[in-house]
Amino acid sequence: MLIVKKFGGTSVGNPDRIMKIAARCIEDYSRGDDVVVVLSAMDQTTDELIDLAHKVNEKPPKRELDMLLATGEQVSAAMMAMAMDRLGVRAVSLNAFQVPMHTTSRYGSARLKRIDTDRIMHELEDRKIVIVTGFQGVNKYDDFTTLGRGGSDTTAVALAASLHADACEIYTDVDGVYTADPRICPKARKLPEITYDEMLDLSTLGAGVLHNRSVEMAKKYEVRLIVRSSLNRSEGTIVEERVNVEKMLISGVALDKSADRISVIGLRDEPGVAFKLFDVLAKANINIDVILQSIGRDGLKDISFTVSDDDADDAMQLLQDSQTRLHYRDLSINKEVAKLSIVGAGMMSNPGVAAKMFEALYNEDININMISTSEIRVTVLISERDGERAVNAVHDAFGLGEE
Ligand code: ADP
Ligand code: ASP
Ligand code: MG
Repeated sequence: MLIVKKFGGTSVGNPDRIMKIAARCIEDYSRGDDVVVVLSAMDQTTDELIDLAHKVNEKPPKRELDMLLATGEQVSAAMMAMAMDRLGVRAVSLNAFQVPMHTTSRYGSARLKRIDTDRIMHELEDRKIVIVTGFQGVNKYDDFTTLGRGGSDTTAVALAASLHADACEIYTDVDGVYTADPRICPKARKLPEITYDEMLDLSTLGAGVLHNRSVEMAKKYEVRLIVRSSLNRSEGTIVEERVNVEKMLISGVALDKSADRISVIGLRDEPGVAFKLFDVLAKANINIDVILQSIGRDGLKDISFTVSDDDADDAMQLLQDSQTRLHYRDLSINKEVAKLSIVGAGMMSNPGVAAKMFEALYNEDININMISTSEIRVTVLISERDGERAVNAVHDAFGLGEE
């Protein structure tokens, strides 16, 4: 068997934990399995490096930021190889250049394009445990890139797909995927299994337990994905195409506090306006999300939409620069908003799911700013300070908690 095991920042947060993880990986290796380990940077390292960069430059060049951030994962990978050596097992750490892992050019949010597996295969044949730095890649200019925050999950799944691994195990600081973030919803319940589609929506909508690109890739390449704890031996959650348990109406609630709302006020109410507005943002690779357009009045209309806070400043700048072309009157941004979503394949055949969510929010006196729906999800925009209360209220309303 070939297993890819990924450990997040907390799991490799100190030397003691690194020794424990090393021993755990060696268990599989000693059974005869081939083991590839993907690591995040230790604990808060990535945040600290970002803070460090901002001490010398408030807007660090993205290339240099990636150059800096790529060091974090190299520390944990080298430390792990040293720990395994101490335990008497041959191991080798490899960074994105040494693999190599090719990505698109975009610093800060590059996408993996291709992984050369020769070196890894060669090391595995030599009976070594191979430790690979997560989160980083190499672009066509031979520069380091990073895959976006939380991107080590995607490194792991991409490696599992390229190596045709039998499983990709994501070890983290919770026991698996829960019906809501267990840190803000004490009644959240661990799901034994969840479909790729539901997991993809949950992770895109704020459930940070898996990087959304990793789920997309797992679905595409049919990677067997398991999320479990690095601190205990409980079963974890299997992410797969179909689940065996009886389908619940909804499988989870997600909260995304990184959303910001931009409102463009007093646009002309004529054809092509939405196109021109969103084209400006699309050309700059800025993803927009929930959109609300007001009904035209006196020949004018307003369009509001959400963007992630990483993109908000760039989006505002672009729109300001295009004011004469877009002919709007006013532009505003609200950073104190959050997206609250419910996700579940079960809602497709059940009317009234959205109403039930709205009722739960009404009972808590929480105002809804915008609404967007798909076949398997309902998303509302609320005030950020209502976030936790809203998650718990909706979670209770659907009876998702422990009996
Ligand atoms: P790692 O460093 O291991 O990658 P992350 O912090 O990226 O860990 O992801 C794990 C965290 O995801 C948990 O600590 C938890 O707070 C959060 N989380 C958010 N939503 C969920 C969910 N539905 N199920 C489990 N964890 C969740
Ligand atoms: N170290 C990176 C981050 O903190 C990548 C990861 O942990 O997945 O975002
Ligand atoms: Mg993570």
